[in-house]
Amino acid sequence: MRRKAFNLYSTHLKQRFGGRVHKLSVDAGFGCPNRQGGRDAHGCLFCAPGGSGAVSIERNQSIALQLERSKQLMRRKYRAKWFIAYFQPFSNTFGPLAKLRHCYDQALAVEDVVGLAIGTRPDCLPPETLDLLAEYHQQTYLWLEIGLQTMHNRSLDFLQRGHDYRCFLDAYRQAKERGVRVCVHLILGLPGESREDILATAAEMARLKVDGVKLHLLHVLQGTPLGELYQQGQVPMLEMQEYVELAVDFIERLPPETLIQRLTGDGPRDILLAPLWSMDKWEVLNAIDDELRLRGSKQGDKYQSG
Ligand code: SF4
Repeated sequence: MRRKAFNLYSTHLKQRFGGRVHKLSVDAGFGCPNRQGGRDAHGCLFCAPGGSGAVSIERNQSIALQLERSKQLMRRKYRAKWFIAYFQPFSNTFGPLAKLRHCYDQALAVEDVVGLAIGTRPDCLPPETLDLLAEYHQQTYLWLEIGLQTMHNRSLDFLQRGHDYRCFLDAYRQAKERGVRVCVHLILGLPGESREDILATAAEMARLKVDGVKLHLLHVLQGTPLGELYQQGQVPMLEMQEYVELAVDFIERLPPETLIQRLTGDGPRDILLAPLWSMDKWEVLNAIDDELRLRGSKQGDKYQSG
């Protein structure tokens, strides 16, 4: 049994909805501005051909059908009762408002879908889109998931993200002004980032009091520009224990109320080049628990408010 020395999202969902809630990934067909508006061009250095967070989704089916099929699976596997439709791959606010509304409404019309999680980039959140999200925030349980990865502009440049930290700050501020819950995606172990750099990002997330974070480790995937650099020996990777210690350092610096939505990642196995240790997700999660236990610490222990 994992000790909960941090504010776990799944526990929060269970308490809020009174039963097991599972996120179901859905691909609504959006493109990405960093892939020349489509899906085929290269975008961020690490992004898989099928989009970041590419998972086994039946992409050519309607939103409703994708959700219905995953629902049956998750009911059998995890006895999930309720579901959150997670618009995951590519940039799910990149489109005209009518299309966004149409997609989100289709998901909410599926039985037992109690909320939405919408993954996107900071430069895909103009005021009118944020107004729309604020509307959904009023009517359902909504999370806006913004891919940031790091607060350091030199790393954002290296990753070819196509936006800077200021862009994130503007989008974040405007989302919070509208009351929208925000989860920030971050990558630990970026080439050229020291422990101090990573902890500076943690301190910044703490300063902003973000509602949730997803911590990812850097995955190197085949078919990506990062994969090519890796094969040329130009991408140093973290060992598992290094990642575990950084993740714990990060958690300790977050406010106790920030929801931890993810502590590691499991990249698509068929195209994963490194780190191969990440394939055993439970080993990583257990090692994080062990590290917290060993330190006798918990989320918030090194949080500096003010
Ligand atoms: S913003 Fe997301 S979908 Fe677009 S290229 Fe980067 S990681 Fe891929």
